Amino acid sequence: MRVERFVSERLEPALYRRRAPLEVTAWVAPGEPVPFAEASAKSFAPFAAGQSWGRPWGTTWFRLTGPAPAGWGGAGTRLEVVVDLGYSHVQPGFQAEATAYRPDGTIVKGLHPRNRYLPLAEVSSGGGVDVLLEASSNPDVSGDGVFATPTKLGDLATAGDAPLYRFTAADVAELDVTVWELLQDVWTLRGLLPELPEQSSRRAEVLRALDDAVDAVDPSDVAGTAEAGRRALAHVLAQPASASAHRVVAVGHAHIDSAWLWPTRETERKCARTFSNVLALMDEDPDLVFACSSAQQYAWVRDGHPELFARIKQRVAEGRFVPVGGMWVESDTNMPGGEALARQFVAGKRFFAEEFGVEPLEVWLPDSFGYTAAMPQIARAAGARYFLTQKPSWNEVNRMPHHTFTWEGIDGSRVFTHFPPADTYNSEVSGAELALAERQFAEKGRATTSLLPFGYGDGGGGPTREMLAAAARTRSLEGSPAVEIAAPGEFFRRAQAEYADPPVWSGEMYLEFHRGTYTSQARTKRGNRRSEHLLREAELWATAAAVQHGTAYPYEDLERIWHTVLLQQFHDILPGSSIAWVHREAEARYAEVARELTALVEGSLRELAGEGTTPVTFNASPFARDGVPALGAAPAAVGADATASAEDGGFVLANDRVRVVVDADGLLASVRDLAADREVLAPGARGGLLQLHRDTPTQWDAWDVDEHYRRHTTDLVDAESVELMDGSAERVAVRVVRAFGDSRVEQVISLAAGSASVDLEFDVDWHERQKLLKLAFPLDVHADRAASEIQFGHVMRATHTNTSWDAARFETCAHRWVHVGEPGWGVAVANDSTYGHDTGRTTREDGGTTTSVRLSLLRAPLFPDPDADQGEHRLRTSLVVGAGIPDAVREGYRLNLPLREVAGAGPVEPLFAVEGDGVVVEAVKLAEDRSGDVVVRLYEAHGSRARAAVRPSFGVASVVETDLLERPDAAPRALRNADGGVARLDLRPFQLVTLRFARA
Ligand SMILES: [Zn+2]
Repeated sequence: MRVERFVSERLEPALYRRRAPLEVTAWVAPGEPVPFAEASAKSFAPFAAGQSWGRPWGTTWFRLTGPAPAGWGGAGTRLEVVVDLGYSHVQPGFQAEATAYRPDGTIVKGLHPRNRYLPLAEVSSGGGVDVLLEASSNPDVSGDGVFATPTKLGDLATAGDAPLYRFTAADVAELDVTVWELLQDVWTLRGLLPELPEQSSRRAEVLRALDDAVDAVDPSDVAGTAEAGRRALAHVLAQPASASAHRVVAVGHAHIDSAWLWPTRETERKCARTFSNVLALMDEDPDLVFACSSAQQYAWVRDGHPELFARIKQRVAEGRFVPVGGMWVESDTNMPGGEALARQFVAGKRFFAEEFGVEPLEVWLPDSFGYTAAMPQIARAAGARYFLTQKPSWNEVNRMPHHTFTWEGIDGSRVFTHFPPADTYNSEVSGAELALAERQFAEKGRATTSLLPFGYGDGGGGPTREMLAAAARTRSLEGSPAVEIAAPGEFFRRAQAEYADPPVWSGEMYLEFHRGTYTSQARTKRGNRRSEHLLREAELWATAAAVQHGTAYPYEDLERIWHTVLLQQFHDILPGSSIAWVHREAEARYAEVARELTALVEGSLRELAGEGTTPVTFNASPFARDGVPALGAAPAAVGADATASAEDGGFVLANDRVRVVVDADGLLASVRDLAADREVLAPGARGGLLQLHRDTPTQWDAWDVDEHYRRHTTDLVDAESVELMDGSAERVAVRVVRAFGDSRVEQVISLAAGSASVDLEFDVDWHERQKLLKLAFPLDVHADRAASEIQFGHVMRATHTNTSWDAARFETCAHRWVHVGEPGWGVAVANDSTYGHDTGRTTREDGGTTTSVRLSLLRAPLFPDPDADQGEHRLRTSLVVGAGIPDAVREGYRLNLPLREVAGAGPVEPLFAVEGDGVVVEAVKLAEDRSGDVVVRLYEAHGSRARAAVRPSFGVASVVETDLLERPDAAPRALRNADGGVARLDLRPFQLVTLRFARA
C-alpha cells in the first residue's frame, strides 16, 4: 500500500516537470469523416479546454498551435505535446481516439487513453507547434464493459447528437525521464512481487528494495531524488533470471477487430492510428517487433495513407513490422465455406507477396470463435506450417490439455500449434501475465518457451513505451520468466526445435462458448452463403465463357467482390456479434454483391447458351441433375409423378419414393421411405416442428446460447391455415401459416417428382425478443454420431452426452447438411443459410431410439444490436429420406445452387467431366496470375479413398497439381498421371486437390 500511494501521489504527478497550454481551435465535420486535405482547409473556430465535444460517431478536427516554450527541454527531459481528449476509464478502443497530422498531411501518430503524447520535435518547426488532430468521438457501446445493456449508440442513425466528451487538456509538457524510468522500475517490481513465493528470500528482497526506494525519494523534490530511488532498486533489477526460468517470446501486437462495436470505416482509422504509433515507437526503440495480421487492414492503409504504407513497407523489409497469418482478415472459421476459407489465404498471401515480398508461415487467429477441423489441411495447402490462437482458454467447461501441440485435421494434415498460456492477446507485459504464462504452460518439463502478444488492441494504439520498458526489465530478472522480443516465426522455429514429439489434438477445436454466433444476425449469414455460391457460379461460367468463346474474364470484379465477402467473414461480422450499423452495412454490401454476381452469371450464360429459343438449363453443381450434366447445360428432363390429396383434415404428398402426411396442424405426421418401407419420423412425434425457446444468455447476448435455453420451450403447433397449393405433377405443396407472439411465418412444404427430399421453405416476419426459433425433426434413427458438413468434408459429433466434452457441444455448426444414420440407411437435413444445429437422442418406451436433428433458424439478442434479426427472413431446409452421406453432399449443393434456365442454341459441354465416387468439384476459375490457365479445386467428400479422372473438354498443354496459391506442388500428392491432359488422381479421405490446366 505504501508503494501504491507513492506511485499515485508522488511519481505520477511528477512525470511532467511543467506544462504550458496550447491554443486550440476546432472544426466539426458535419457528417461522415473527410480526408485531411478537405478538413485542414476549413475554418477552425476558437475552442477552450474544458469544452464538450463530440457527438456519437462524429469527427472533430482540433488544431493545436503555440510556441515551444523557451528554455525547456534540458538534460534528463523530453518535450512532448500531451493531449487529454476527455478519456473515460473504459478500456482503450471503446472511446475517443485521434490521429495527429503535421500541417503537410503526414501522420505523426495516434492519441489514445493510454498513449497521450506526441514528441514535440515531430509537431513543431521554427514557428512553434502546429498539429491537427482528427478526433473520433466514438461512443462506448460496451456499456462500461458490461456487454449486455441494449443501446441505440450502435448505429449512426439512432445514436443521437449529445456530445460525449469534455476536452481536458492540450499542453506542451516536459517529461522527466528519470521519474519515468523509476516509474517503470517500480511497475515491474510491483508486478513481480505478489507472484514470488511468499516465504522466498527474493520476495523479501524485492519488497525491501521498494521500501528503500520510497524512502530515497523526497516528496518535496521527486525530480531531484528520483535517481536515488532508482539506485535503491538497481540491485534487485540486476539479479538474473534462473537457468530454468520459463522463456517468453514477446511480440508487439494490436488485435484490431475489423468491425465490431464500430463500423469498418472506423477500423480504417484505427489501423492508421495504431500503425503510425508502432512506426513512431520503432523509431524510438530498436527492440520493437510488431506482428500484424490482416491483409485487409494493410490494404486500407495503402489506399488511405500511402505515405504511412511506404513507411510500413520499409519496416517490413527490415523484419520489424511482421505480416503474420496470411489471411485476408482474421475470419471466423466455423462458417466460411471451403472455397471461401481457402480464398482467405489466397487473397491474403497474394497481398503479402505482392506488396511486401513475404510469405507468413503461421496462421494467426487469436480470437475467432472455435476452429474447424478442416483448418490444418487448408493451412498446409496454403503453405502455412504453424497455427496460433488463445481463444480456447475461454472454454466454459473443459480445458484444452496443451499449449504447444500438433493439430491434426479430418484428412490427417498437421500443423504445429501454440496457445499463448498467458491467455491474452492484449498483454501489458505485467508480472501477473508473465507468471500466469509460466504457471499455466502445460508443456513444462518438455518445452520451455511460450509466446506473448503485447499491445492494446481495437484502437488502443498497440504496444506502448511502457510495455517495452517492462520487456527490457524482464529480459533476465530473478523470479520472472525471461522475456525476449522477437517475431512469431522465430518463436515457432524455437518451439518446434525444442519439442520434437509434441502431443496431438485431432479434429475440431470447438469453443465451449459463443454458440449463438452460428445463428445471430441471420440475414448476414444468408448473405454469406448466397455470396459464396454466387461466386462459384460466376467463376465457373466466366471460365467456361473464356475457354469456349474467348470472352474476357472479369478478374477485377471478381477480386473486388471476393474481398468484400472475405472481409465480412471477419470474426465479429459473420458471427453476428457486431453493432446494428455493421450488420445493416453488411446486408447492403451482400445485396450489391448479389446484384453484381447475378449480372456476371447472366452475361456468361447468354454467351454460353448462344442465340436460340431452346430452353437450356445450367447446372453449376458438381452433380448431374434433372438430366443436366454437372458444370454444364442441357434441356432439363423433369419427372412427373408427384401427387397431392386430402386426407383426415390434412394432406398427403407423394411420389414414387416418399409419402408425406401433413396433418391438420401443418406438421409432418408421417414421412415414409417407400423403397425401404420404413417410417422416418419417430413414433408419436411430428416433424417440421417449430419450437420457440426463451433465449436469455447469462452474458454476451449476441454471442451466447446457454444450456439453460432448453428449459423453456413452446411448440408452435397452432396453424392459422393449412392448404394445398396449386401444384403440378412436377411439384406438389402445402402452405401453412402460423402466427405466434408478434411474429408470423408462412411455410411451404413441398415434394418434387422423383425426389427423396421433402422441402420446407419459411418466410418469417420475426418480431420476438430474446427468443430462439428451432426447427425440429425427431427421427426414428439409432445414431451415436451425427455427421455435419464442414469445409471440404464433414465431422462426426456424438449425439449423446457421455463426457463433459460431448455435453458442452450442445449447439454445433454445420454447413449445408447434417446426416444421421444406421448402416445402410439414414436421413439428411439440409439448409440454404442456417449454421446452428443441435442433435440429440432419447430412448423410447418401446426400446427404439429417437435421434433429433434441430436447426437454429433465428435468434433475437438485444446486445450489441438491440434490434438484431427483427423483420423478414427467408430460410429453406430439406429432409432427405433414405440418405447416405453421398446423398447429403448432393443435397447440400442442390439446395444452395439453383438451376438456371435460359433460352439458347442448345447444350453446353462442361469444361470438365469428373469420374470418381465422392470426388467433388468446389471451384473452377482462371488462375490468379491471369495467365489464362484453368484451375480446378476438388476434394474427396465421403471420407473414403477415391480414384478419379478429371477430363477437360478443351485442349490442354499441361496439367500440374498445385497448392492453394496455384504454385506447382514440388511433390504432387494426388496426381498420379496426366497423360493426354486427363488428370488421374488417387485421393485419401477428405483430400483437397488443386489442379492447374495450361491451355493448348
Ligand atoms: Zn477479435
